[in-house]
This record gives sequence, structure tokens and C-alpha cells, in this order.
Amino acid sequence: SNSSSSHGNSFLKMPAIKFTKLFINGDFVDSISGRTFETIDPRKEEVIARVSEGDKEDIDIAVKAARQAFDSGPWPRLPGSERAKIMMKWADLVDENIEELAALDTIDAGKLYYINKVAEIPSATNALRYYAGAADKIHGDVLKMNGDFHAYTLLEPIGVVGHIIPWNAPSLSFFIKVSPSLAAGCTMVLKPAEQTPLSALFYAHLAKLAGIPDGVLNIVPGFGPTAGAAISSHMDIDAVSFTGSIEVGREVLQAAAWSNLKPVSLELGGKSPLIIFNDADIDKASELALFGIMSNKGEICVAGSRVFVQEEIYDEFEKKLVEKAKSWVVGDPFDPKSLQGPQADRNQLEKILSYIEHGKREGATLLTGGNTVGNKGYYIEPTIFSNVKEDMLIARDEIFGPVLALMKFKTMEEAIKSANNTKYGLAAGIVTKNLDTANTMSRSIRAGIVWINCYFTVGSDVPFGGYKMSGFGRDLGLQALHKYLQVKSVVTPIHNSPW
Ligand code: ADP
Repeated sequence: SNSSSSHGNSFLKMPAIKFTKLFINGDFVDSISGRTFETIDPRKEEVIARVSEGDKEDIDIAVKAARQAFDSGPWPRLPGSERAKIMMKWADLVDENIEELAALDTIDAGKLYYINKVAEIPSATNALRYYAGAADKIHGDVLKMNGDFHAYTLLEPIGVVGHIIPWNAPSLSFFIKVSPSLAAGCTMVLKPAEQTPLSALFYAHLAKLAGIPDGVLNIVPGFGPTAGAAISSHMDIDAVSFTGSIEVGREVLQAAAWSNLKPVSLELGGKSPLIIFNDADIDKASELALFGIMSNKGEICVAGSRVFVQEEIYDEFEKKLVEKAKSWVVGDPFDPKSLQGPQADRNQLEKILSYIEHGKREGATLLTGGNTVGNKGYYIEPTIFSNVKEDMLIARDEIFGPVLALMKFKTMEEAIKSANNTKYGLAAGIVTKNLDTANTMSRSIRAGIVWINCYFTVGSDVPFGGYKMSGFGRDLGLQALHKYLQVKSVVTPIHNSPW
């Protein structure tokens, strides 16, 4: 039948699974316990592979390797330009293998193959090359001081870094974390999310081929409360960079505080507002709103999950948005016609469906969607609620799915208040042709990135991170380098030194 063909075998590009073990000190090894865990294809609800399950003992071994590589290995001692060459080589190897890597993220996370290949992985290698270019431009300042002394600052690599990353963008989050820390001269242990370990292990293999020395980059797949917690509480990890939920971010920060007070940076999701003013092009704005929430099936920390539309255009906007949502194609993420693949795992599917039920119970109007699609795989219809009140759960919680809460506003003041009426502060979007409106809005919204007449547009040089409970610290941009650097001040008399 027609409907089964889009879920059938015609677009199957099942890559061979070559790497399923922990990558420690330059080798693929079994976990100490010998345990493995299943990674599931969300399109088919079938096991793709069994992956070695790292735990505390494995993290300890990985940290020892990273410590050794930091204390006596070549990486932190190489000239920045030499680190850059190796990082550039790694990026080239990723390019050469991009189809296989794109397919791995598709079967592991349900992400669109085409987008992985032309957008996400290219953005990831772009970040790798950006930081490669920065590796020989890391320098301190010369300070005049008062009187007969002067000082200079040295920027030193912070040491052994722990990275804990989520499953919604396995390739991009991998390189956003790894690239600046490598450029800084750090060594590291990274735990990919248990849902999506496959591409990270392939990247490790390519890192070795590129010449990244053993022990510099260690990858330990495993679960959060075991392997993840072993990173955040480790006494010999010097800094942790985390992307994930508020609940886990809190645990990471607490573990860091109670162990060795390692600095932590947290990127903890959002409930981002997209605000559309009366002067907007309704057709284009409704397209942007749909794209802003349905892309990557809503599993994006900056998803525009709250859409506020000014009252004059509200009715027409709603009509267009619903029309477009109804023709948004949900299907096999290998099919080039699909715009939305399956949610990453069963937990996500169930969590999203329960939020949809909540929305209905709380009295929001379900304009379209709300159901699963097909009888196999974690597919959900693009879902739009109207008559949403700001105190409803669907307007407050990060759903991390294709569920949009549509709201109406009258004045700019009201829009500012509503936009900021959230514990989160990661991103926001504004659609208007009026420069005064755009300027006032972008300065009034408490969020780490504001998009004016666009959405999702990120660049390696554009800092990315949260206000409020969306976390602190920035990924990307030159700012991110400083998470992985220490500042040392050296002070000396200019003359009349008694020695
Ligand atoms: P999400 O809600 O997006 O799944 P999580 O915050 O649960 O995000 O997970 C993000 C990452 O944090 C994953 O790699 C996960 O394994 C890890 N993690 C989960 N619990 C802990 C924990 N207690 N300590 C450290 N890391 C954890």
C-alpha cells in the first residue's frame, strides 16, 4: 500500500555498524564489566547494535589516559598551528565519510538523512575548522599596572575536560564540545547519550586516523546515573561541559560542587518564543513558525515552541499555519520527501503524547495533529494547540516534540511580558518589518540568542547559550574557548629588581 511504502525498505540505507566499543587511549576496548546495551532504530523499533556500556571504572581508566596525555603527552605542548593541522585533517576525513555518518545519525536518532548530510554534519565540521583556525591565536594580554611593575597573562589549557552530550543532535553537539577544547590544548572524556552512541565512536576512529594522539580524546558510551555521574563527580576532571535537561544539569552542578569544584557549563534547553507582529508577511511567517517547531521533530533545544501572533493578523495566520501543518510530510527519514522522522525513542514518544493529553485536558484547542503516525516507529503528527493560556503545562514545559502552543497578543509590551514569562531563556524569534520594534524586542527579551526575521540560523562564530534556567556558559564563538582555558597572571618589576 501507499502508506506502508514510506515506512518500507525503499529508502533503507542501513550502514554497517563498525564501532561499538569504548574508545580509550586510542583503542576500542570492552567495558570492564563486559556489559553492553542496545541502541534502537526509532523508525522500526528494532535493535541496531549492542554497544559496550561504560561505568565508573571505565571513566576512571579514560580519565587516567586523558590525564597522562595532558601531563606528559604532546597535545598541550604542540604549537597551536600543529594542533590545527590535525584538526583540519580530521574535518576532511569526516567529509569523506559524511554519507555513512549521516546514515548513522538517521538510524540512531530518527533524524532526516538529507539534513544530516547537507546541514548538521557540515555545521559540525565547520565548527571543527573554525576552532582549528583559532588554535594558534590564543593569547593573553600585557598589563601596564601602576608603578614599577608590569604583568602579562598566559592562557593555559584547563586540563582534562568532561563532556556530557544529548541525543537530539549527536554530531553537532559532539563537535561543539570537542573542537574548542582540542584547540585550547585540553584532553578529554566524552559520554555520548545512551540513545545515540554510534556516530561519536566513528568520529573517534577518524580522530585517530587524523593523528590526534592517544589519550587526548576518549569516548565512553553509557548511562547518565553511572557513566555520566562518574564524570561530573570525578576528582581528576578539571572542567565539565554539559548539554541536556534542567534536572540533570542540576545534578551535574551539584556533583561538581561536592567533588573538586570543577567549573561547569550548562546548556539546558528552552521554551522559546517566536513573536509575529501585524506587519509580517503572513505566509512567510507561518512557514517560519512551522519550521521553527517541527524541524528535527521538535527535538531542538531552541525550538520555537511558543508562538505569539498579534491580533490583527491572528486569524489568517492560524488558518495558514494549520493548512501548512497538514501538508507537512511525516515519514521515513531516509525518504527525501519526508520533513519529519520519528522521535528519538519510546520515552520521548510517550512523554510528548502525555503533554498532548495534558493540553487537551487543560482546555487548549487542538487545531491539528495529536496522534501517532503508522503502526511502527515513533512517529507523531505535527501538533498545534490554540487558546493556550500561559499557565498551562504545554506553555511552560519544554516538550521537545512537534507540539506548538499558539497565543495571541495586542501590544508590544504584552508580547515582551509573555515572551519572558518562562523559567527558560535560550532563544527567541521576532518577525516584523519595523526596525524600532525589532530593536526594542531584541533588547527586552532575556535569551541568549534573538533571531530577527529568521530562525535557527547559527554559525561557528556566534556564541550560543542560555539566560536564566537555560544554563550558563556559551558554546561556539571565541567565548567557548575560554571555558577550556585558565588565565595565569605573571607579575614582574620592570627595573630595580633586587635579584
Ligand atoms: P534529555 O532529557 O535530553 O534526554 P538528559 O539531561 O536526560 O537529557 O541527558 C543528557 C545527557 O546527560 C545524556 O548523555 C545522559 O546520559 C546524561 N545524564 C543523565 N543523567 C545524568 C547524571 N545523573 N549525571 C550525569 N549525566 C547524566
